[in-house]
Amino acid sequence: MTEPTDEALFCYRHPKIETTLRCYQCDRPMCVRCARRTPVGYICGECQRGRQRRFDQSRPTDYVVALVISAFLGGVASILPMLGSWWFLVFLSPLAGTVIAEIVWRAVRRRHGPHLWWLVGVGIVIGTLPIMGSSLLQLLTVLQGNLWGLQGLLSWGLHVVLAVSTAIARLRLT
Ligand SMILES: [Zn+2]
Ligand SMILES: [Zn+2]
Repeated sequence: MTEPTDEALFCYRHPKIETTLRCYQCDRPMCVRCARRTPVGYICGECQRGRQRRFDQSRPTDYVVALVISAFLGGVASILPMLGSWWFLVFLSPLAGTVIAEIVWRAVRRRHGPHLWWLVGVGIVIGTLPIMGSSLLQLLTVLQGNLWGLQGLLSWGLHVVLAVSTAIARLRLT
């Protein structure tokens, strides 16, 4: 054991295969077939699965649930810009984003997933599309000199930015 480099290592799953690789996490020797390359070094299959359990607990259905719920609630929340003025949105749009993120987070039973945050962002934007459509129609009237239409478009944009950014922040911090 004084010169570990000279010692023949054998894969922990394939005891007949000699190797020079070790898992950076559990330090067990492993062959090329068992090793997975990661940005910080080689890892064995077992440790990789352990890491995924911790960091990616999501199921494919979680993403469907997250997208549908955030699109639906995003649609409900998209009436906010029509209800009040800008200061109203500055308070209520982030609140809507937080509530949407919270409901999605509970709906997926608090399972972490690497795609959850941006899918919720996309869902909120999709839910807001019908209102955006009407805002784009208002933009046409802006071109004809209707400033009220411009205000409607800007408050819609403000709402989307605030709601999406707070929803994403809420999900990424969990
Ligand atoms: Zn390992
Ligand atoms: Zn092996």
